[in-house]
Amino acid sequence: MKIALAGNPNSGKTTLFNLLTGSNQFVGNWPGVTVEKKTGKLKGDDDVEIVDLPGVYSLSPYSLEEVVSRNFLVNEKPDAVLNIIDGTNLERNLYLTTQLLELGIPTVIAVNMTDAVCKNGDKIHTEELEKNLGCPVFEISALKNKGCMEAASATVKRALEKNTEKYPFSFDSCVEQCLSFIENLTDGNVSKEKSRWYTVKLFERDSKILEQLKENENFELTSENLSLIESKIKACEEEMDDDSESIITGQRYKYIESIIKSCVTKKNSKNHFSTSDKIDRIVTNKYLS
Ligand code: GDP
Ligand code: MG
Repeated sequence: MKIALAGNPNSGKTTLFNLLTGSNQFVGNWPGVTVEKKTGKLKGDDDVEIVDLPGVYSLSPYSLEEVVSRNFLVNEKPDAVLNIIDGTNLERNLYLTTQLLELGIPTVIAVNMTDAVCKNGDKIHTEELEKNLGCPVFEISALKNKGCMEAASATVKRALEKNTEKYPFSFDSCVEQCLSFIENLTDGNVSKEKSRWYTVKLFERDSKILEQLKENENFELTSENLSLIESKIKACEEEMDDDSESIITGQRYKYIESIIKSCVTKKNSKNHFSTSDKIDRIVTNKYLS
């Protein structure tokens, strides 16, 4: 069994990886690139291999780390994903989560740094987070070795059950209509669980997605269907007055904002991020990640 450990840089991935694997680690490079690849056997269960993915903020096609991470997730088909997120910075960390949950891979979320969350006097409501994300959520502290093995065991269990319970988020209806149109054109040619991922990426005009469809699903859209898709996307962009990639990014952040509202109680409950902060993040995410 293969479990991918995915998360933002500085979310505590390495700390958790070391705890879960102990000295049983292998370090190499990802094929063809000089990005470090670490794998290890889960302590107490030699059948479970954990792969530490490069830390990324999203699964866009812009940086080498992002491409390595998404190629592994989509091409190598790990049995499950353990998504580690920094509990002191949920807004930023959940962006990647919203993308991981579209991959159709059994997923468990480990909210890390809960020692620091506690120290700040904040509270994260995990059951509410589970409802919003449609997967198990564990509070952990990799630094203090709290909850880590439990999260790993739950991930193994989720993989064995092949549980990809549906993630409850949908985009605005105009976008969903366009996504359904795209999905119908790939229907039957793309593995069912990966369909949402390919559909959203096609809508975003992701520069690497046609190649990935061909490599993994042995499927090529006809030029006729590609132009049909393009005209649907253009119509949606006109209606929403934005480009398709920004539409998706913006709606992910809107969803995250609503999740934070219902899942986090801040000691200082004033609105903790301003609109200009958010726009900054969207722009940073798009151009600098
Ligand atoms: P990575 O970049 O995701 O691999 O993150 P690291 O494992 O290198 O951790 C980044 C920083 O966060 C380090 O200084 C860790 O000691 C710290 N860190 C990791 N886990 C925790 C935790 O649970 N609580 C606190 N307070 N700090 C942590
Ligand atoms: Mg690391």
